[in-house]
Amino acid sequence: MSQPTSKRRMIGSAVILIVVFAAIFVGRQGDIEPGWYTVSSDAMGTTVQIKLDAASQEQLQELAEHGFAAVFAIDALLSDYKDDSQLSEANRDAAARPVTIDPDFIAVLEEARRIADASGGAFDVTVGPLIDLWWLAVKDGVPPSDSAIAATLERVDYTALELDGNALRFGKPGLRLDFGAIAKGYAVDKAVAALKEKGVPRAIVDAGGDLFVLGLQPSGNPFRIGIEHPSADTPLCVVAIADRAVTTSGVKRRYFEIGDVRFNHIVDPRTGRPVDEAVSVTVIASTAMLADGLSTAVMVLGREEGLALVDRFPGAEALVVTLSGADSLRVFPSAGFGQYLVE
Ligand code: AMP
Ligand code: MG
Repeated sequence: MSQPTSKRRMIGSAVILIVVFAAIFVGRQGDIEPGWYTVSSDAMGTTVQIKLDAASQEQLQELAEHGFAAVFAIDALLSDYKDDSQLSEANRDAAARPVTIDPDFIAVLEEARRIADASGGAFDVTVGPLIDLWWLAVKDGVPPSDSAIAATLERVDYTALELDGNALRFGKPGLRLDFGAIAKGYAVDKAVAALKEKGVPRAIVDAGGDLFVLGLQPSGNPFRIGIEHPSADTPLCVVAIADRAVTTSGVKRRYFEIGDVRFNHIVDPRTGRPVDEAVSVTVIASTAMLADGLSTAVMVLGREEGLALVDRFPGAEALVVTLSGADSLRVFPSAGFGQYLVE
């Protein structure tokens, strides 16, 4: 395995890293032509990678800049780390006055609502106050009390989000939007759309587990994507996909640790507690936003209800992984997941 060479390039204020691609997917993915490149940048609270083949550094630079511009725009709009994002503005002001939001904000909100409705509120982007409560518990080293959870649940209710045209209002005080379960997927979709606009025939955009595969390999075969194992470093399985998104949600990447206990970073808005049935969920869907949102929703609903939810979204498939006993994984695929499995 040759050592990748790398160059740093600047795009606006963001640093992107261009790496000769050949070695990147070894172990994770099969037969990619050498000469592919990976361009990475920190965005959306993770590392975003765009993988594509280009005839020259100049072309690579141009395409990568175009793809990342789409990601950075969504990050600037929907980040809850940035005080000047529209999401932060809504969280600050929408209980007091209508806040005008952009079409991209509306698109994420509407998809979030669709998944929330379909999942009976298991998926809920107003989960913010609960997430804050659990982070506070991590800091204090003590799980939140039942009464604190009950009080916080009063402030979790996506049905109180009122959208009138492009004006968003919170119909209840104390709500906080958290797009952590869905915005990365949307940013991936926007980057893919930007690359398509430039005529890019094939690319992979990966935002830390939320990825979209555009087109086929030069050989005409679909790309092979290794599905993250919930505990080991080797892939759990390999899927072959084209023009589809694949997302994995799980406790491995992010979690709350209180004392010695590791809790899932996904919280059930019906109980106020971290979910514990599935250890990971992979969803394949037509958009990365849907795959991202559904994978989180299925984590909350668990195997049976979760797979039933996925069945209601045409073209979406899921793989639910549970842990029974010390180390024994059980894997439950949706009816059509097998069509993508190659290993
Ligand atoms: P993901 O890694 O895509 O599954 O998203 C997890 C993130 O989504 C968490 O870090 C929270 O910010 C947020 N989240 C947690 N629980 C929920 C939920 N029940 N519905 C919607 N978003 C959630
Ligand atoms: Mg998600």
